[in-house]
Amino acid sequence: MRAYKVLAPGRGEMVDIERPQPGPSEVLLRVAATGVCHSDVFIRDAIPALKMSLPVTLGHEVVGVIEELGVGVSGWTPGQQAAAYVMRGCGSCAPCRRGLDNFCHVGYLGLGTHFDGGMAEFMAIPADAIADASGLDPIAAAPLTDAGLTALHTVNSIDRGRPDPERIMIIGIGGLGHLALQIATYRFHAEIIAVDRDPKALELARKLGADSTVLARGSEAAEILAWAGGREIDVVLDFVGSDSTLALAAAVTNRGAQILVAGLGGGSVPFQAVSVSTVAPEVSLLRVSAGSRHELAEALDLGRAGVMHAETVVYPLEQAGRAIDDINEGKVIGRAVLVP
Ligand SMILES: [Zn+2]
Ligand SMILES: [Zn+2]
Repeated sequence: MRAYKVLAPGRGEMVDIERPQPGPSEVLLRVAATGVCHSDVFIRDAIPALKMSLPVTLGHEVVGVIEELGVGVSGWTPGQQAAAYVMRGCGSCAPCRRGLDNFCHVGYLGLGTHFDGGMAEFMAIPADAIADASGLDPIAAAPLTDAGLTALHTVNSIDRGRPDPERIMIIGIGGLGHLALQIATYRFHAEIIAVDRDPKALELARKLGADSTVLARGSEAAEILAWAGGREIDVVLDFVGSDSTLALAAAVTNRGAQILVAGLGGGSVPFQAVSVSTVAPEVSLLRVSAGSRHELAEALDLGRAGVMHAETVVYPLEQAGRAIDDINEGKVIGRAVLVP
């Protein structure tokens, strides 16, 4: 079968390999669609922090049809459409036992990073790491399994014990941000403000229900403070996570606000324990990471209900390398999806 493998750091290639066999407790999926994520750029580079062992097949947003069941698998039948859970925790710590692999104390390993993923015609995966994806268009569903999962977990992480937010600001209307925007619009009677440096992304944000949009060009904090009448943003969802977006989040939030950071832009913000500080008192700052097994099922349900819909650009599997390059160069609005 054909598969896109990382053979050496930065060297991804389409290769012919043996079709995998499902091991005990595994299923074999005939891949229908695999989303391409911005992190595939770093995974292809096999950056040292990921501690990968090569070669490995890329692809961690996978939807397919069950082709074969391994020994000991029950509850699934060949022909069913299923979506892969993007990570695998240790399986034995307290969070893992509750399906919260994203909280795994040992640290989780990633599909298409530490074990073979779905940029291939077939993929073997443990039967307890798939969720029912019946009734969904596989191309639309693939991005829900990672981008959608993280977007959902970010919105789910808004503390509902606090007064309902009146103003939610979403920074970065890319692969994750455009999905979080749809969930936030559905969940909250709040004014949604979208921030991005690309006017086309803001156009998409308006189409998806943002009440107002702000073009990021360096003066956005002053702009938002002026029309909001001060630091009146209750919740910031930051899908960029750079120095400048974190500074913006801190500048527009006041006491009791929440800043949830999903972007991995490498930024930082001073968190001083003094009375007058960059981050206002009573502001909580949370770095979110992917989502749980339950949230994968929830993300797929939101897809079925039409609440969350990913904008997709389809590439044939053979063009996996080009799709990753296009994402790296910012040429893809929404989500790229590979189809074998
Ligand atoms: Zn990803
Ligand atoms: Zn664990």
